[in-house]
Amino acid sequence: MLTGRPVVIIGGGVVGLSIAFHLVEAGYPEVTVLERGLVGEGTTARATGGIRQQFTSEVNVRMVRDSVEFFTRFAERTGYPLDFRRHGYLFLLSTEPQLEVFRAAADMQRRNGVPTELLSPDEVLAITARRAGEVAPLSLLGVHYYGGGIQRVDEQATAMSHRDKPWNYTVTTTWPSMQDGAPVRGWQDEWVAELEPHTHDAFYVNYLFDQPEDVQRAYNPLAWARLRALKRSWDPGNLFATNQNIPPAGSDEP
Ligand SMILES: Cc1cc2nc3c(=O)[nH]c(=O)nc-3n(C[C@H](O)[C@H](O)[C@H](O)COP(=O)(O)OP(=O)(O)OC[C@H]3O[C@@H](n4cnc5c(N)ncnc54)[C@H](O)[C@@H]3O)c2cc1C
Repeated sequence: MLTGRPVVIIGGGVVGLSIAFHLVEAGYPEVTVLERGLVGEGTTARATGGIRQQFTSEVNVRMVRDSVEFFTRFAERTGYPLDFRRHGYLFLLSTEPQLEVFRAAADMQRRNGVPTELLSPDEVLAITARRAGEVAPLSLLGVHYYGGGIQRVDEQATAMSHRDKPWNYTVTTTWPSMQDGAPVRGWQDEWVAELEPHTHDAFYVNYLFDQPEDVQRAYNPLAWARLRALKRSWDPGNLFATNQNIPPAGSDEP
């Protein structure tokens, strides 16, 4: 037990400073960092700033997973702002032996709460190939990580469903003039159709606009039944039927 005794750390890189920070936070009264040059001038100054969780060793995965939590709350924990952005990591594999290693590692990473996905070449093509013949230069494919706090809320606790899904895809397009609309919409629909076989039968509720037939897919069956019962109580005549029509329970609509 070192509490109460002075601690001396040699080296003021990220490792030494992190140890010092955590010791002080844990209540160690006297922590000294000895740095022969400038704090952070060693390898730390060269780092790209990526925080990779996709390792093959379980201890590494768990350490980095916990450090992501730390960086997410960095300002709260340290009192200093941090421009921390979650972009994800992408690995391209070209041989079967590599794939085997990554498949086993991805299973282990998921068991430890890291949302790693293996994408097949077909899925990659569906996600990216459309860009090659872009009809709409202002198009955007959004791939949003859906885990974290979203998954910690019980699926039945709110109307927002599909909390167990790992990713949320959006295909957004913009066109400069009225005439360009139809081809761009057609191109967008084709892209979505190509993605569909690789996705779950689910919608994110905020992305529904003019697809009335898809509204039900945004909710799990219990949430849908609850919302319909609410409509029956509060809006039995279904005055509020747009943009997303939830028909009152007992009405003719399915
Ligand atoms: C190009 C590059 C990119 C990288 N990108 C990433 C990345 O994206 N993500 C990632 O996680 N990691 C990355 N790394 C790795 C990462 O930078 C290192 O793992 C990390 O900075 C090591 O920190 P450290 O505190 O152990 O070492 P250092 O930062 O080197 O700190 C050691 C300190 O000890 C001091 N010191 C040494 N001997 C003594 C002594 N006798 N007395 C007093 N002081 C002494 C040195 O002056 C130095 O300041 C990258 C590394 C490089 C080179």
